[in-house]
Amino acid sequence: MTTFHSIVLDCPHCSTLMNDYELMSYTVHSSTSWSDGKCDNGVPDNNQIKICAVCHLPFWKANATLPDNPDWDTEGLGGPINIHDLPWRFDDNRQEMQIKFYNDLIDDGFADEDDKEIYLRTKLWWSINDIIRNLSKWTSARNLRQLSEIKKHRSKSLKLFGKYKPLLEKNLDRLIFNYIKKGDIDLISLTEMYREKSNFTKAQEILLQFEGEKGKVYGKMKRKIRQKSSKVFLLD
Ligand SMILES: [Zn+2]
Repeated sequence: MTTFHSIVLDCPHCSTLMNDYELMSYTVHSSTSWSDGKCDNGVPDNNQIKICAVCHLPFWKANATLPDNPDWDTEGLGGPINIHDLPWRFDDNRQEMQIKFYNDLIDDGFADEDDKEIYLRTKLWWSINDIIRNLSKWTSARNLRQLSEIKKHRSKSLKLFGKYKPLLEKNLDRLIFNYIKKGDIDLISLTEMYREKSNFTKAQEILLQFEGEKGKVYGKMKRKIRQKSSKVFLLD
């Protein structure tokens, strides 16, 4: 069951009040998990960054949430928009726009705490990986025309990913720095960060320190490192 708790957001830029929800609990019906930690499980939007419906500026949901007040009349309030509601939603270059959105926020110092920087850098990381996350497979072609389209799409995606690889690596450097500084490290996640930076020696070294139950994910990770593969992959 999915349950929500109604909240009121106060835009820190223009003081517009907005009606929003806090996700209290949810049931995951099916989920797809990726090696970079992204999970496509159909959970309703739980983004920590909201965008004001009036001034279109982004803000942190946690900072803008007003204390609970039973007298709030939220009926007439509109909701905030999120990144996917911005005008470039349907543009061909929406993947690049999303990367730029997160990268600009980082450059502008939008994150004033380590946790927020980790959140933003994770979003940036996932956005770059999104370019190749669902790379079409040769085997899904049913005729020659489809095969040629898949070929074109694959090469376009890989070329675009190549353009962002330096940013991905630079971002991972900072993410690793913040992640280690924060403590409470998940060694498999840290291994993944080094693997995607193509630092397979370091990735292997960290994976060897892992002492938990060595399940399927561990096995896949080990194999990818051995193959010197640095791309995001599907866990299950
Ligand atoms: Zn505003």
